[in-house]
Amino acid sequence: MTNLAQTPLSDRLRSLVDTVQHNERTLRRFQNVELRLIGAQDFGAFLDTLFSHLPQEFSLASVTLWLDARAPMLLDLIEPVALRALDHANLKTSREGGLAARDLCEEGRPWLGKPGELSDMVRQAFFGAAPPPASAIMLPLAAGDTVSGYLCLGSDDPARFGDGMATDILERFASIVTASLDNVAHRERLKQLGMTDSLTGLANRRYFDERLREELMRAVRYGVPVACLFIDIDSFKRINDTYGHQTGDRALAVVAACVRQQVRLGDTVARYGGEEFAALLQGDRSDALAVAERVRLAVERLDLHDDHGQRIALTVSIGVAARRVGGTAAEAVSLGREMIEEADRAMFQAKRNGRNRIEALGKLAGDQAGH
Ligand code: GH3
Ligand code: MG
Ligand code: MG
Repeated sequence: MTNLAQTPLSDRLRSLVDTVQHNERTLRRFQNVELRLIGAQDFGAFLDTLFSHLPQEFSLASVTLWLDARAPMLLDLIEPVALRALDHANLKTSREGGLAARDLCEEGRPWLGKPGELSDMVRQAFFGAAPPPASAIMLPLAAGDTVSGYLCLGSDDPARFGDGMATDILERFASIVTASLDNVAHRERLKQLGMTDSLTGLANRRYFDERLREELMRAVRYGVPVACLFIDIDSFKRINDTYGHQTGDRALAVVAACVRQQVRLGDTVARYGGEEFAALLQGDRSDALAVAERVRLAVERLDLHDDHGQRIALTVSIGVAARRVGGTAAEAVSLGREMIEEADRAMFQAKRNGRNRIEALGKLAGDQAGH
């Protein structure tokens, strides 16, 4: 046994540095996987990340996911037809699997150990007939008290997952998986309801109007301001005419992703019309102006190329409007409508004033709306 106090300082330092570097590498690899999970546009991409990308990054022998088919948002994701289409052997939904995992993970804590030593029933539920991995960790996917599933990582190394091992990094990872799963389930639901635009993956106008109403109610209840941006791509017809409709479509998708990146997670961005986007923001006029400027700059800096490698310059004109709403629900909704129309008019003003710019209609209009 080595006694840390007796080893020379240089050795101890080296060992500390090694550990720090090892942890940093691990965290960075986690970050890659996490970014993929968070950005997954559909359930298929989410599963691919877990079942293909994760084992590669971490040299795992197996990754198995058990999901609770009764969890409200998961119901549609894992209905039999949807599952057959995805065809992943390591996605499990059996009742026994869930019960076995729950027993292993006492009080919602991860379980680590050798699956070979588990009962046949538990092993079957998670690893099927194949030989189980030499060691494994079972991580509950939980938000608050609700467990939506379990993620099981297996290794060929019997010492990889064992008693006493620090699990904080993996538990943090499990919470990211949980949040991403929830996100993907919501995305899929919006698709089913016809609320997303397939070209850009953004919400469509129908969903935007729905969210607008909710945001206005929230704004009334908490006395917070709301704002919106109307974003229109400049001279887009010329892009279609010059580079073809397909490249035009690509430009739309790129601008959509770019706008999405410039707003906060709780804000709504929608494709409002052909080459027009609307963003609903939690914030006041000056917040909205700042976001608008970020969007304008980010689009201007986009690096889009045509089929011959020629850069395609893109710019947007943005109209901004903000409100403090109050009164009855009906009054708030009508103020919200006004805000949208004002942002639209401001956008046209930006076009008239030369494009690639931001306009908010005179301070007066904004102040009047404050009453
Ligand atoms: P302005 O700067 O005044 O906004 O000029 P503009 O050319 O962007 O505006 P205009 O309204 O004249 O043209 C919009 C164009 O957007 C025309 C239409 O063909 C194109 N467009 C709308 N939807 C799509 C789409 O889904 N894909 C492609 N490729 N083009 C689209
Ligand atoms: Mg337009
Ligand atoms: Mg346009």
